[in-house]
Amino acid sequence: MKIILFIKSNILKSLLCFTLLIVSFIILLKNVFSNYFIMQPVYSKAISNNLLDTISELAKEDEKIAYLTFDDGPTTSITPKILTILKEENVKATFFVIGKLVEAHPEIVKMAYEEGHYIANHSYSHNNSILYKSKDNFINEIKKTDIAIGNAIDDDEYCSHVFRFPNGFMSTLYKTQKENYLPLLKEMDYFYIDWNCLNNDSMGKYSNYQLLENMKQTSKGKNTLVILMHDTKDVSDSSFVLKDSIEYLKAQGYIFKNFYEFIDN
Ligand SMILES: [Zn+2]
Repeated sequence: MKIILFIKSNILKSLLCFTLLIVSFIILLKNVFSNYFIMQPVYSKAISNNLLDTISELAKEDEKIAYLTFDDGPTTSITPKILTILKEENVKATFFVIGKLVEAHPEIVKMAYEEGHYIANHSYSHNNSILYKSKDNFINEIKKTDIAIGNAIDDDEYCSHVFRFPNGFMSTLYKTQKENYLPLLKEMDYFYIDWNCLNNDSMGKYSNYQLLENMKQTSKGKNTLVILMHDTKDVSDSSFVLKDSIEYLKAQGYIFKNFYEFIDN
């Protein structure tokens, strides 16, 4: 009996030692290989697994939802005016910022972020000939912009997860490159989004009345609106029609959201 117990306890000891050995080996491997993955960015927020499905399903929602988006900022002349109106109207929006402008005006990005707006990525240079010159350029422009945003808001792991191609994915400019680079976005844990409603401020030729009419026309019959405006003075100043635009949409029963909707905290 004693012999059997002795054998059993030895077997148990051996099993225990073996398990410890395996666990130590796994920990060792993890530490060694973590050096190889250190270049992989660690995101403070994870993208929702269902995100891509959610985006493609956006337009099928029954609820009337408006996502206000402002491209090409931040600028000292327009962005603060937009922020003031959004605060007065209690609306949270999304800003597709240009990395080099974030570096120039980090305080505006910080203000927008702290007021609850989503800071999304619109490339570093907004210059197609640089952005699409190579895959490396494309990746670097997105990462440099995230770093600039991260510096502005004191989050060195910032990833916006949301990209808008300059001129939009739907534009025929650099179409082949844009299509070829889609897997790169996915690898970086990014999705892209265009818009389905706009006031055409970028045409720079419409009166305030016409800007508002353009938005009303392009919103017709759509439950989900991703609305394109700009917060740069290179185009018509959308801040003049923002209040009326928001009030019109509220009267039509829309509620306002931004892209935090799609990010797991
Ligand atoms: Zn743009």
